Amino acid sequence: MLKNKKLSTSAVWSGEKDFLAFGATQVPVVHSVSFGYEDMDEWLDVAVGKKSGHIYGRNTNPTVHAFEEKIKNLENAEAVTSFSTGMAAISNTLSTLLRPGDKVISIKDTYGGTNKIFSEFLPNQHVDVVLCETGHHEQLEKEILNGCDVLYLETPTNPTVKITDLKRMAEAAKNVGAVVVVDNTFATPINQNPLTFGADLVIHSATKYLGGHADALGGAVCGDKKLVEQIYHYREINGASLDPMAAYLLLRGMKTLKLRIDKQNENAMGIARYLKTVNEVDAVFYPGLEEHPGHEIAKKQMNGFGGMLSFSLKGGMEAVRHLLPKLVFANRAANLGSVETVVGPARTTSHVECTPEERASLGIPEGLVRYSSGIEDLEDLIADLDQAFQSLPENMRTSPHQEVNES
Ligand SMILES: *Cc1c(COP(=O)(O)O)cnc(C)c1O
Repeated sequence: MLKNKKLSTSAVWSGEKDFLAFGATQVPVVHSVSFGYEDMDEWLDVAVGKKSGHIYGRNTNPTVHAFEEKIKNLENAEAVTSFSTGMAAISNTLSTLLRPGDKVISIKDTYGGTNKIFSEFLPNQHVDVVLCETGHHEQLEKEILNGCDVLYLETPTNPTVKITDLKRMAEAAKNVGAVVVVDNTFATPINQNPLTFGADLVIHSATKYLGGHADALGGAVCGDKKLVEQIYHYREINGASLDPMAAYLLLRGMKTLKLRIDKQNENAMGIARYLKTVNEVDAVFYPGLEEHPGHEIAKKQMNGFGGMLSFSLKGGMEAVRHLLPKLVFANRAANLGSVETVVGPARTTSHVECTPEERASLGIPEGLVRYSSGIEDLEDLIADLDQAFQSLPENMRTSPHQEVNES
């Protein structure tokens, strides 16, 4: 294999060759749950890992393996393992790494499900959880110095796309011997490679950009070989394995990852610039905008600013309720990272389980719209938003609107 492949080439070709059979040019979907052996010694050798091969679908599967290899190549990682969902990747990783009495430090703005693990499940297992203000690097450094076993980061975050300096935080964590884990779902390996900044493990919800078509759930963890082996062992016993058909769909989606992400970066930038000119919009959150507080760090550690942005409406939630149904080229749904543009209020998607007070403390306005740019033509997306804004009733256009509290 040629060394130093670039990302598009890698997305198309890497990880597949060893899994092709019968001259097929595409990786087959191997549905078989078990793999049989006539030679008992060979079976034993495979079972104890002396020889490569497959035994049972909960442990390994050829289609799943091809999917894993592609991620490993894109993130330039030593090792990789996969999961049924992104949350399985996150929960299995944290459960593998943390013991009672250990301390995990993270940020307040992690993905909603991850936040629940920190607030609900880890404390039950007597793991100490410290959540810092997202983007407050001094606070994170101070907490890390007080002792830290795992530093868990996510950048950019959901839904206000806040940025954390990965290199700076990884250095602080290394000084106290902590393991650094980064959820790279929003950035994808095209826009950001946390391992190059000192992270030990990178997590993906493959459900989002890696698959890119919102038709399969999956997750992955890649990075340090020893750690990944431990996490794989936890997963093979606890059972959150990736289904071969889902692995195939994700694998196929990943072939166009670079093309899609380039277009989504471009669209998000264009939409963010457009939204800044719209009178009904209160604030626009996108790391590609110069005034975004994380812009300089994002410029340093990202190759592109990503396809995710958010904006708040002067008319609050009532204006959101009016605006979103008017959009023609957007799904109103909870997913993101798909080829179609997807929109949703933060209070019904990422932070639905939070109280209005919790959302306020996270800096999430009640009238915030999360916007996941698809790969449509930018002109059409802007025209679509434009006609939707035009349709807003007069009283929701400019003046701050009294929030209607329904909960
Ligand atoms: C969606 C998402 C997850 C969870 O992934 P699932 O595949 O839905 O379990 C984790 N982290 C981030 C940043 C996400 O967007």
